[in-house]
Parts: sequence; structure tokens; C-alpha cells
Amino acid sequence: MKNRLLEAQDFSRRVNGLSDFLLRLESAKTREDVFRILQTESKSLLEFDTQFVALLTPNRSQYAITVLSPTKSSSTPNREVSEVSESRVGRLEIETPIPVEQSEGGAWLDLGLKSMLMVPLRTSEETLGSLSFGSYRANAFGEADLWIAQLLGVHVAMALRTLSMRTGERKRDEHLGSMFRALNELSAILDPDELLTAIPSAVRKHFNYFDVSVFAVRKESNQLVLVGHSGNYAEYLPWGYKLNLGEGIIGWVATRGDKAVVNDVSVDRRYVGPSESRTKSVLAIPLRSGNEVVAVLNIEEPNLNAFDETDTVTFQLFCEQLGNAYRNAMRHQEIRETAERLTELDKLKSEFVGIVSHDFRSPLSSIMLAARGLLKFEELTENKQLKEYVNIIIEQANRLNRLAEDTLSVTELESGQLSYSFKIINVERLVQDALALVKFSSKHKLTYHIDPNVAYVKGDQNKLRQVVTNLISNAVKYSPQGGNVTVDVQEYSAGEVLFSVKDEGVGIPDEQKDKLFRKFSRVSQKEVKDIRGAGLGLWISKEIVNAHGGRIWCESEVGKGSTFRFTVKKAVG
Ligand code: ADP
Repeated sequence: MKNRLLEAQDFSRRVNGLSDFLLRLESAKTREDVFRILQTESKSLLEFDTQFVALLTPNRSQYAITVLSPTKSSSTPNREVSEVSESRVGRLEIETPIPVEQSEGGAWLDLGLKSMLMVPLRTSEETLGSLSFGSYRANAFGEADLWIAQLLGVHVAMALRTLSMRTGERKRDEHLGSMFRALNELSAILDPDELLTAIPSAVRKHFNYFDVSVFAVRKESNQLVLVGHSGNYAEYLPWGYKLNLGEGIIGWVATRGDKAVVNDVSVDRRYVGPSESRTKSVLAIPLRSGNEVVAVLNIEEPNLNAFDETDTVTFQLFCEQLGNAYRNAMRHQEIRETAERLTELDKLKSEFVGIVSHDFRSPLSSIMLAARGLLKFEELTENKQLKEYVNIIIEQANRLNRLAEDTLSVTELESGQLSYSFKIINVERLVQDALALVKFSSKHKLTYHIDPNVAYVKGDQNKLRQVVTNLISNAVKYSPQGGNVTVDVQEYSAGEVLFSVKDEGVGIPDEQKDKLFRKFSRVSQKEVKDIRGAGLGLWISKEIVNAHGGRIWCESEVGKGSTFRFTVKKAVG
């Protein structure tokens, strides 16, 4: 009777101790806190000589032992990792105290233990491992001990699970943050090769892994080449190091196009590492551009079970984004190369056109000179028919000459080679020369007026003549019904002279005026659809006038006519 009373008193003391233990457990912040509380508090709840926890690893094929109260034999290692099937500890079904002799593990006997009490660490969702107590005494544990140990097991399991969920969430947040920072840096790289090379150091900088490398797939040789590396194996694996497709974990990932998460390389046949390798875990993810694997990101860690679900998910997402960045970089490279090729072609074309149009002009000048010479022969001028033919030759040669001049100006302007020779120019000569180059039909009546105050301007004679010729020939061309064409030169402001060429032609709609002076730009208007042109004359004129420090513009009204005006500097003195 007395004994039972004592037992009851002892039991209620232990139950009280248990509630203290639970309170403490709630304050645990880390798994190590939980173990420390177990270590210090369970002594008052159970009588034992040794205590340890076996926790399943993330891939659930192994468990790691943490000894909380060591046996007399100091050889019991902490964090020993064993296969789940190796002994009873791994089975996690033990619920009754078992005498050591009956247990399968001879290991307990070796440690001198005679009784073992093992309970699962299990929550309603999952089994995390087991909690074990050992004693050097035979029959050391009774039913009350089992009950207490089971309660301990349930609460420790719940505490561990809550902590691991919290740690998991924190890790996910941190990983996402690091991933975005790394991506931000990498997606600014517009060269695909440079991008692959830069990945490992960005990953190491933001995630701090032991060793990170990127192998690019070379389909032509069925190989993988190390193109980026940052970490502890940099000296063993030189850049350009090659693997065959299918070789090692990296080769496997490249051929399968699937990730590889290996948390113990010693049991993975695919792993091939240098003999100096300290790697225990590998995470390798394919990097795709569209459907094609273009590279493999390979991360190595020196501890077992280094990679969990969070790492895998993060790096899959990371590689997906990098795949997009790679594709963009490829496109950018293609566009850049095409643009370079086009620029080169354009340059060649300009050179060719330049040479041709330049060489055109010498024979044309000879033709014009010879034709003008012919007009001096009286016998010829008396023959109306012959005179007309010679005039046609002169006009057409003039046209061709203007065309060659415009084409040459375009190529020179585009290549920045148009050079100017500024001199004092006689305005009247300039206007007359320009008029001589344009053919007027009998429907047009030409007048010109030059203010005697502006007899001289400063500029390039040939270039300014080209501008005036362009404007006059446009005035004639775009007034097919005929009418007056007037050239007027007068003072504009103190140091400037204003040239105006006025016609009574088709005019230009307001909304089209903007594009007049752009290269290859023509007005779309039914009245001019049959008039041929390249849309270059006004662009060239604007460039020339700008180079003279002047301005060119147009005033026009549809159906009434247009006036094109430009300014140049007056010659001083
Ligand atoms: P092109 O005459 O060879 O087409 P320009 O650069 O000289 O090229 O002229 C650009 C466009 O401006 C012409 O296509 C024409 O539509 C318009 N334009 C130029 N001058 C006149 C004008 N005097 N009257 C009406 N439209 C004009």
C-alpha cells in the first residue's frame, strides 16, 4: 500500500515536471534548443544512462543520430548517419520498452546497455525519427516510463516540426530574395556566352555555396564544356574542362533534361568527381533555351543532405528565368550581328555608288561641253531640227548630271565625307547657273529678283547651286499646269540672306509638311502620283543649308502653290 502511494507521488511529480518541460519547449527557437531542453529536463522525468535522438534525413532514406547523454564509452559519435533499414532505431515503430538482449542491434550490447526505451517522434502528419533512452540496468523501464517517453516524443516531434516549417519559410524567403538579386545582375548581360560565364559567381555571391559551375552543351562534339566556375574546385577543374554528354551527374542532366538532386554522392553511381573532391551533395539543373538544354548549372556542397525541396524549387525557377535571359541575349546577338553585316553592306554599297556616280560626271561634263560647243556653229543653229536635238542632249545630260550629283551627295552625307569649301559667292551668278541647269517648259514663266544689298553670300558655290537647282526644278516639276516660277533673294536679318523659290503648282497639304525634308520621303497626294522622284533633293538641301548655319522651310497652300525658303550668311565686308 505504502509502495503504491510512493509510486503515485512519484508519478505526479513526474507529470508536473512534464508540464514544466512542455512550457520550456515552447520557448525553443532552434532544433538545438529542443535538444538542449531534452538533455537538461528529461533527467527529472526518466531514469536513464544514455539518451539520443535519431532524425530522418530529408530524403527519408537515412537517419542522423544526436547523442544527448553519452554512454560511458566515449566512442559513441554524434550525428552518425545510418541507413534506415540498418537497425531498429530506423524502423520507428518501437513503442514498448525492449530488453536489449531482444533487440536486433548488437550495438547496444557493445555499449554495455541492458534496457532500451524507444519511442517515435511522430506528429499526426509525419514521422520525424525516434527518441531513445538506455540503461545499464536490466528491466530499467516500466509502463509509466513508456507513457512519459511517448508524451515527450509527441511534444518534441511537434516542436521540431513547427521549427522546421518556420525555418523552411524563412529559407524560402531568403532564397527568393537572393535569386532575384542574382537574376537582376545576370539579366543585364546581353552576350549569351558572357551570361553563362557569369552565373557561378553570381550564385556564389548571393547563396554562398561551396562550389558552383556551369557547363555548356556542345552538340557538335557531344560534349559539355566548363564555361563558368566559382568555388573551391577552381584549381582542379580548369575552364574549358570537358565532359562527354551522358557522363557524370552533369552529363546525365544534360541528356535527360531533368534536374538531379543527390544528397549523398557516395551512393550515386552517376557521380564522377576529382579524387580531391570533398563533395557530398550535388544539385544539378538544366538551363533551357526553348526546348533545348543549352547548359547545366551544377552546385556542390561538402555536407550530406545539403539540398532540400526549397533549394530544388528555387534553382529550377532560377534556371527557367536564366533560360529566358539566355534566349534574349541570343536574339540580341543575332540582331547585333545582322546590323553589323548590314552596316558593312551599306558601307560597301555607298562606296560603290559614290565611285559610280563620281565617274559618271566626267563623261557627262564632256558631253555637255561638246553639245554646247556644237551650238556655236552657225550652220547647225540655222537648222531648227538639229538645234533642237542638241538642246535635248544638253538638257538630258544636265538631268543625269544632277542625278549623279544628288546620289554622290547622299553617299557622302551618309558616310560623313561631304566636305565644304566656303568662299564669297556672287548671288546672281549662282542663281543664273542654277536656272541654266533646269529645263523650263513653255507653260512656265520664270522671273528672278536679287536685292542689290545682298549681292554676295558666304558658302560653298557648288553645294548652294545644288540647293537652288533642286528648289527650282521642284517648282517646275510640281506645277505641271505651268505658271510663274519666281526666285527672290533679299536681306533677311542683319547677317542673313533669304532665298525664296515660289511656284503656282499643286501645293503641299499641311499635315505632310513635316516629312518633306526627310530622306526618301515623298508627299502622298493624288496630284503628284505620276511625277517621279526619289525623295532625296529636299533632304540633301536641308543638310547643305544646315552645314551653312542656315535654315530651310516651306510655305504652301494646296492648289495655290508653294514657296521654299532658306537662309545663308551674308558675306562680310
Ligand atoms: P523628289 O522630288 O525627288 O520626290 P524632293 O526631296 O525634292 O524629292 O521632294 C520631296 C517631296 O516634296 C516631293 O516628292 C514632293 O511631293 C514634295 N515637293 C517638293 N517640292 C515641291 C513643290 N515645289 N511643290 C509641291 N510639292 C513639292
